[in-house]
Amino acid sequence: MSEKVKIIDEELIHRHLETGRGRSKEEVLAIVAKAKEARGIEPQETAVLLQVEDPELLEEIFQAAKMVKLKIYGKRLVLFAPLYVSNYCVNNCQYCGFRRDNRSISRKRLTVQEIREQVRELENLGHKRVLLNVASPPFRVSISSKRPWPPFTPRRMEQGKSGAST
Ligand code: SF4
Repeated sequence: MSEKVKIIDEELIHRHLETGRGRSKEEVLAIVAKAKEARGIEPQETAVLLQVEDPELLEEIFQAAKMVKLKIYGKRLVLFAPLYVSNYCVNNCQYCGFRRDNRSISRKRLTVQEIREQVRELENLGHKRVLLNVASPPFRVSISSKRPWPPFTPRRMEQGKSGAST
């Protein structure tokens, strides 16, 4: 029997939530100040913020979140078109139709030609960003620097346009 791969460490999450409970106002504000630098915060700090109930501190967190969002994304709404390259998955997330125990769907892995056609179709619909999704297949999906991925050139790149938002 194959060894189960632990993707989500629930014990660690619960430990962080336990130790992050009931922290002082000063500690919460220090984490909020760090968050405002927009360089990320640690999981244990996130656990502290998730358990704040004081309305004043909650407002500080909301304001900081808004500030970081504006700093990183500005007033843009960025949409990605998800493209499933494969719906084979070794995991069993209960909310997901692609979970391995769901026998009611047919499984498919797109060929390079099919990926090319799908991307062209999305480009024709006006999409500029494609999110390639492979679930967690029981086979290797080769993405190497020697063989560029995707294995073809999207039209916007052929036209010399970058993937940056416009
Ligand atoms: S596709 Fe993602 S969400 Fe769905 S079962 Fe697999 S790992 Fe879970």
